[in-house]
Amino acid sequence: METVLVLLHGEADGTLSKAALEAVGAAASLGAPFTVGLIGSNLTPAANSMGTCGASRFLGVEGEEFGAPRYGSDAADGEALCREAGAALVVVPGTSRFHRVLAGVAHRLDGAVDTHIAALGVEGAITVTRWYYRQRIEATLTRSRRPWFLSLEPGAFAPWTGAPAEAPIDRVAVTLPEAARRTTVAGTVSPSSGRETIRPDAKLLLVAGAGWTKKQADGQTHVPEAEKIIWEFLKCTRASLGSSKSLVDLGGEGQAVLPFLSHLNQIGQTGSTPRHPKGLSTCCHGEEPHTVGWRFINERRAISLDPNCGWARGKADVLYVADAFKVMAKVNELLAVG
Ligand SMILES: Cc1cc2nc3c(=O)[nH]c(=O)nc-3n(C[C@H](O)[C@H](O)[C@H](O)COP(=O)(O)OP(=O)(O)OC[C@H]3O[C@@H](n4cnc5c(N)ncnc54)[C@H](O)[C@@H]3O)c2cc1C
Repeated sequence: METVLVLLHGEADGTLSKAALEAVGAAASLGAPFTVGLIGSNLTPAANSMGTCGASRFLGVEGEEFGAPRYGSDAADGEALCREAGAALVVVPGTSRFHRVLAGVAHRLDGAVDTHIAALGVEGAITVTRWYYRQRIEATLTRSRRPWFLSLEPGAFAPWTGAPAEAPIDRVAVTLPEAARRTTVAGTVSPSSGRETIRPDAKLLLVAGAGWTKKQADGQTHVPEAEKIIWEFLKCTRASLGSSKSLVDLGGEGQAVLPFLSHLNQIGQTGSTPRHPKGLSTCCHGEEPHTVGWRFINERRAISLDPNCGWARGKADVLYVADAFKVMAKVNELLAVG
């Protein structure tokens, strides 16, 4: 079996993200000895939290200047840890921080990278599975080039769980070149506060379609009421909010839409393909370019006035042919009581 390195970065508070623990779980499932390589400002809590994960060795590049994401330092740290571990396979969580530097690290080591890995296998050689063409084709592949960097799709692997234990870290010294120090991280600015609606770890995805903004049975639109109902539901359930393309596009045309929606909420062929155990679609027609984004939603329900909508044609497990304004108002009432 080849030498395996799980390359991780700690979070600002010294913990590990769920995606990091998924990478540990995936590496442990290969049944081969593996090394953990950590990058961050304070690594001891992170290493100790997975002290019984089965890693044969913990390596770390630690220090204030390695805490924040920055191309120059992250690339240098990744390279140093890979060289120290002599790894043939490098398993990393598919975080935005690693996606920025992985190609650079692989290039420095003359290796290869594959991203969005959804499964790992050992069939003589290591095989990886990933989706192509907006999740329409699933392929299993292997490569002979080493080191081989495998960036795992967050949410596709079971996170490692186990007891903490003291895990001594072998520190790896990295001297940053002057160019790497040119960038300093001043802080983080979030696009909005209090109205964040995209929650990748939520158990439920609520999708809002353009129907929420259309004229209703009384010949009027009811956008403020739609906003209130949807926001109330999100507040009670902590569900993640998705949208159809039509609804988010309306904003660009100057029409009234829900203020907490942006193109980032769009689900589908030209949007995202999130992973949630359950999904509830409301006021959305369920056309193929939209529902293709539901590929990884396990249990699907929809509320639409149209009994011939796409959801009725095998896209949903349950379709409620009903007025979503009324159904969701009642659901909110029940949630408030509960
Ligand atoms: C190349 C291409 C890529 C695309 N990519 C995407 C994509 O990534 N994501 C995406 O979403 N779309 C995508 N589309 C667009 C997609 O084909 C549909 O046009 C879009 O999903 C329709 O959005 P909608 O269902 O919200 O709106 P509509 O088609 O207008 O449907 C609104 C629905 O709301 C229902 N409704 C109205 N009032 C109520 C009520 N009170 N209660 C219950 N139901 C009600 C209506 O019956 C209707 O079914 C793409 C299209 C193309 C051509």
